[in-house]
Amino acid sequence: MSFGIDDLPVRDELRGKSPYGAPQLDVPVRLNTNENPYPLPEPLVERIAERVREAARDLNRYPDRDAVELRTRLAEYLTDTSGHEVGLANVWAANGSNEVIQQLLQTFGGPGRTAIGFEPSYSMHGLIARGTGTGWISGPRHEDFTIDLAAAEKAIAENRPDVVFVTTPNNPTGTAVPAETVLALYEAAQAAKPSMVIVDEAYIEFSHGDSLLPLLEGRPNLVVSRTMSKAFGAAGLRLGYLAAHPAVVDAVQLVRLPYHLSAVTQATALAALEHTDTLLKYVEQLKTERDRLVSELLALGYEVTASDANFVQFGRFDDAHAVWQQILDRGVLVRDNGVPGWLRVTAGTPEENDAFLDAVRDIKKEQG
Ligand code: PMP
Repeated sequence: MSFGIDDLPVRDELRGKSPYGAPQLDVPVRLNTNENPYPLPEPLVERIAERVREAARDLNRYPDRDAVELRTRLAEYLTDTSGHEVGLANVWAANGSNEVIQQLLQTFGGPGRTAIGFEPSYSMHGLIARGTGTGWISGPRHEDFTIDLAAAEKAIAENRPDVVFVTTPNNPTGTAVPAETVLALYEAAQAAKPSMVIVDEAYIEFSHGDSLLPLLEGRPNLVVSRTMSKAFGAAGLRLGYLAAHPAVVDAVQLVRLPYHLSAVTQATALAALEHTDTLLKYVEQLKTERDRLVSELLALGYEVTASDANFVQFGRFDDAHAVWQQILDRGVLVRDNGVPGWLRVTAGTPEENDAFLDAVRDIKKEQG
């Protein structure tokens, strides 16, 4: 018998649990992790090389611990795209929005505290809660995956969580959450505790609707988290950020590791932000492709959840995992998020989406 995890004195709450594990398989068409399918444009690759070369000269020194230039540029991007004035003091950045969420849970969650999310939703919220010793409460959704406001308000009143997660558009369902719902959840959370409400807007650039950033006005317990992994097409960069009241930014300083954002990361992100327009140019095309996937899947007789993101949840299947395998056998990797009866496909290039549609058409035909 070989020595394994269970033989180590790991924390009780980690025993028997699995790590986050979207399969990284080498297949021709990968539509499983909501990445942007387009590689960075060559002029940007050149600019990254230039800025990283400059940064490399100072690698004997620690990086700017407060990432001032980067946060200033991110604040400008948020202000320009939302019309809501956001400044350096409102913005914090970390290695992916996963780290932003981890820092928020380290600050506002932790042992003896709880967080609630409305599931199915982004599984890392619960996993990061566990990793930070925060109790996790699974809140309800309607059958159509919209948030059941009455049930959510009841769950908040009963459980009095310290942190409330609202993901809009939601992953893996694609469902957008209306501003009125977020406001009602915020009120419920303040009445119950008060607690922090984290609006995860990882996919907001793909939405038919607007960002909820304007809701930050006068709501110091609200946080909006964002990422450069999706719309910016820079998942490999690992850059996430948040906008909130300056007091929230001050609070996360208590838990962030010193110099957590490397000089190379900061230089790369700054180069990418110089090319925002080029990077975001694919968003409109991906939205069109997302809508095409929806209409073609519906035409094929599948059920589809209304999507405001760069992916589509489709079903229903008696055995979703078996269908996932059948699609994979045809060279296309989609995602089985464990939502019974449903799978999720990321909008790729038109060619990749065609390959996916051919695969599901073929499977339908085979079934007769
Ligand atoms: N939030 C949501 C809803 C996501 O789907 C993801 C990535 N799948 C993230 C946050 C994390 O993104 P990243 O750490 O790459 O910024």
